[in-house]
Order: sequence, then C-alpha cells, then structure tokens
Amino acid sequence: MGANYDVIVIGSGHNGLVCGSYLARAGLRVLVLERRPVIGGAAVTEEFTPGFRASRFSYVMSLLHPRIIRDLELRAMGLEVLPANDLFCPLGGDDYIVFSDDVRRTQAEFARFSKRDAEAYPAFARELEASAALVRRLLFETPVDPVRRSWRNFRDTASLLWRHRRIGDRAYRLVDLLGQSAYDYLSAWFESDVVKSVLAYYASIGTFAGPRSPGTAYVIMHHVMGEHQGAGGWGFVRGGMGEISASIARSGARHGMQVIAGAPVAEVVIRDGRAVGVRCADGREFGARVVASNATAKTLFRRLVAAEHLPPELLTEIDRFRTTSTAFKLNIAAERPPHYRAFDPAKTGFAYPSYVHIGPGIDYLERAFDDAKYGSYSARPFMTPVVPTVVDDTLAPPGKHVINAFGGHAPYTLKDGSWADAKPRFTRVALDVLDDMAPGFSAGIIDLEMLVPPDLEQIVGLPQGHIFHGELSLDQLFLQRPAPHVADYRTPVRGLYQCASSSHPGGGVSGIPGHNAAREILRDWRRLR
Ligand SMILES: Cc1cc2nc3c(=O)[nH]c(=O)nc-3n(C[C@H](O)[C@H](O)[C@H](O)COP(=O)(O)OP(=O)(O)OC[C@H]3O[C@@H](n4cnc5c(N)ncnc54)[C@H](O)[C@@H]3O)c2cc1C
Repeated sequence: MGANYDVIVIGSGHNGLVCGSYLARAGLRVLVLERRPVIGGAAVTEEFTPGFRASRFSYVMSLLHPRIIRDLELRAMGLEVLPANDLFCPLGGDDYIVFSDDVRRTQAEFARFSKRDAEAYPAFARELEASAALVRRLLFETPVDPVRRSWRNFRDTASLLWRHRRIGDRAYRLVDLLGQSAYDYLSAWFESDVVKSVLAYYASIGTFAGPRSPGTAYVIMHHVMGEHQGAGGWGFVRGGMGEISASIARSGARHGMQVIAGAPVAEVVIRDGRAVGVRCADGREFGARVVASNATAKTLFRRLVAAEHLPPELLTEIDRFRTTSTAFKLNIAAERPPHYRAFDPAKTGFAYPSYVHIGPGIDYLERAFDDAKYGSYSARPFMTPVVPTVVDDTLAPPGKHVINAFGGHAPYTLKDGSWADAKPRFTRVALDVLDDMAPGFSAGIIDLEMLVPPDLEQIVGLPQGHIFHGELSLDQLFLQRPAPHVADYRTPVRGLYQCASSSHPGGGVSGIPGHNAAREILRDWRRLR
C-alpha cells in the first residue's frame, strides 16, 4: 500500500473536516472519507420531505469557536449566522418566562416569580461566566497524562499547571459544577421553581440524567460557554447547520483537501504497529502516513482497529465509556409555525419566539427522566422547538415552515416493545405537548420525521445515538475522554489519531477536538515522516 496521502481522515463530521482543513493549510495532502452520501455528520442540512430542508440533527449554533471561524475563514466561505437569542419558555396556560442574554431583561422576567431571584441573578451570571471563562481556557489544551512516567508527560503536566496557576478559589467552584446536580447548584442561588427550571433545562439536553442527578450542573455550563455574539449566544445558520460543514470543506478544498462521500471505512490498515492507511467496505484501499478518526472512539477502537493492536485495558475502558442516549429529534414541515397561547409580542417585545424551551418546572424535567430511567419514553417530554424559517427563507417553500423539535427522553432500548411499534405513539405524545402550548399546531403539519436514538445510531453512526459521542460527566471529561492514556488525541497505534467529539472537550458543534487533533498531528509530523 503506497502512501498517496499524508493524512486520511475517517469521517466528515465537522470535526473531521476541521482537522483536515488545518492540516491541508499546513501543506499536507489530506483525504477525508465519509460513509454517508452527504458530508457533515451530525451537522448537515438535508431534505426530509419534498421541498423542505432541515438541520436534520444539530440545529442551533453557539459553540463553534471564533478562533476556528477566523483561522479557516468560514465567513468568506459562506457561513452566515442569524441570531436567536430570546428564549421563550411557555409554562402552561397563559404564563411564560423569557430568558435572554440581556441581564436586566432577564432580571425583570425573574422578578415576576421572585424578587430575591431577580436580585441574585447578576451575581449568578457573573459566577457562571467566571467558571465558563476558566473552562474556555482549557478547551484548547491537550489533556495531560499525569500518571504515565515519561519526560514528555512530566513536562506537559508541569506546563499545564504553571499556565493555570492563578485559578485560585475558582477551582473549588469548578468542583461544585462538576460534582453537583443542576438542582442543588441552582438552589444555592434561587428559590423559584420556574427560575430554576429555566436554567436546569440545559442540564437535561442530550444527557441521560435529570436535573437532580449529580454532575448535571456542568452540563448547564457546557451549553452556555459558547462565544457566538459574546458569551453564551445562540444562532441559526443560514441554509441550516450543513452550511457549517460545507464552509469548512470549502476552506479545506482551497488548500487541496479532498473529500469522498459514500466511502465507509471498514478497517484501519496497520503494519508493524503503525497505521499505513485504510481499507473501505467496497475493497478500495488508500495509503497515508497518518490516519485520523472522526468516527467515535467506540467505533474506532471496537470496529475499525483489530483488537490485537490494542491493549486489553483500553478495550475495557472503551466498553465502559457511557453512550446511553435518550435524545430525540422531530423535523416537521408545516403550514404555519406554532402559535403559543402564552406568547404576546406586546409583552415580550419581539415579534415571534423562534427559539423555545418547553420544560415547565423541575419536577416536569425530573419526571421526564424518571420515565426513561425505568425504560419508557417520557409521558411528557421536554422539548426545544425552533423555527429557523422565520429568519431563513432557504429551507421551505414560500409561506411554509420547518420546525425542529429536539428533546428527551426516548431511551435507546425500551423495556416493553420496540421502537418500530412505539414510534408513532411517542410522536403523538410529543405533538400533544406542542399542541398544549400552541393549540391546533399539529393540524397544520404537512409531514414529519421522528428520529430516536436507534435512528441516530444507524444514520449518523453515533453509538446508542449519543449526541455528544458519550456522556459529559466528570469521569468522561478531559484526561479521561474517551479513556485514560488516550486523551491526547493519540492512540497506542503509531500514526493513528482521534479527532471526534469523543475526545476533549466533547460534543457540540465546536470544531475544537478537530483543531486540537490537527495541532498534535503537526507536532508529531516530523517524527512520522
Ligand atoms: C439530534 C442532535 C441534535 C444536536 N443538537 C446540537 C445543537 O443544536 N448544537 C450543537 O452545538 N450540537 C448539537 N448536537 C451535537 C453535535 O451535533 C455533535 O456533537 C457534533 O456534530 C459531532 O461532530 P463530530 O465531527 O465530532 O462527529 P460526527 O458529526 O458524529 O461525525 C462523525 C462522522 O464520521 C462518519 N463515520 C463514522 N464511521 C465511519 C466509517 N467507518 N467510515 C467513514 N466515515 C465514518 C459518520 O458518518 C459521521 O459523518 C446535536 C447532535 C444530535 C445528534
């Protein structure tokens, strides 16, 4: 097998494309191989019913790092982000609360439920932002391996500690976030159940946990640490999330990066302990000096690399890496967007709530998890319905709308029965929740697609359908993501690297695992040639 390329990237998720683009910019010959007919992994725009296109999986942008947008010149490559910052939360009946990035407006909203909570909010926002700022500083770090005895690990660990030596008391606050439940963390600040649930909602997104589960406080922060439009802002991408992946691919193509879709890799070819290329399912072989995997760690270590090349302890760790998922996604083509009973533009000050959280109350969120904990889908799921077509006319025929509703919980495995039978019932349950808040909405549905974890596993290749490639809990972060001794994007196989969300700093459309992996490959490049 000749080395026709410097680097082969397995998978064209946005992280694979980011990794490949940085390497192509550095002058390497890069080939990206994607198993699906479309590129982008979980950041794609696809037609799900004739005439209607949707951000089929991920649907809002916040975490894509400004450094990556700048380095890869993504705006010049066509990336356009449309703000979606006013979060409307219907509470049932005529009641609602608006959460925005404007602290004073949010205070005024909180004051309707608790004057004390309104007063506490600015200090809370500062506290959360200070912790988020600290975590942001770690995003671009390569996790160290403090227990492995080598000069390099000693040097890297000492350097990390030295560079972050001024953390001080903030380290204790970070331990609170990493260890506490969202509910306990928020209860130290707020008294109103509504206020707590507005913030605890973030802790439920994509996790197999409820707001009272230990460790979920961190998940709140993971969702607000993006830097789009300053800290914590969210936005729609014109043309859907696929435009993020497309703009990264265009950026790489300018520097010679090639992408082949419809080319599932069956095996990483290893000779004398070194990755020398890949073999595709159709028998095609491609040689390279380096192979980088954007497929999840479970896929890479359990399916693409023969076990004989890996230490048994690593395989045990990878098997233990938790990917249990309960997230679902509903893509709806409709005559009209949901008209929420509780929404009144005169009161909220904006024309339409295109970004909505339905999860009224801590108990609502916790009960939704309880159902999943015992193997059923939530009788009353929480949900984020967004309507990008209010600001983006490229996704649906004129006058019609696309609604993306992401939510939980829909366990990968149902205790009773199968998803083939349960899906229509669960779809009705989810639509009933929407109709309760926006009466008559479902009567205007033209078509829809319900995706539950087995669908996400089968279509995107996410083990058990986990949207972040694995839970974002203390034991699966930083130097343990995806497993001890392989958190630095390297693997036990020389020339084989990881560039997916199952590596630090985890899931979300951030591009950071891809960026960091490219940096480590370039660091090693001279020795790999
Ligand atoms: C339903 C859903 C909603 C989400 N919502 C949001 C959101 O709104 N905002 C946000 O920031 N994040 C969101 N996320 C999370 C985010 O989309 C993911 O964390 C992120 O896109 C993962 O990117 P990645 O490049 O690491 O991996 P992936 O996107 O999973 O890409 C991996 C790629 O590798 C390919 N691949 C796998 N095996 C092979 C093989 N053998 N050969 C060739 N190719 C292979 C796959 O087909 C895939 O294209 C959501 C995710 C899902 C599923």
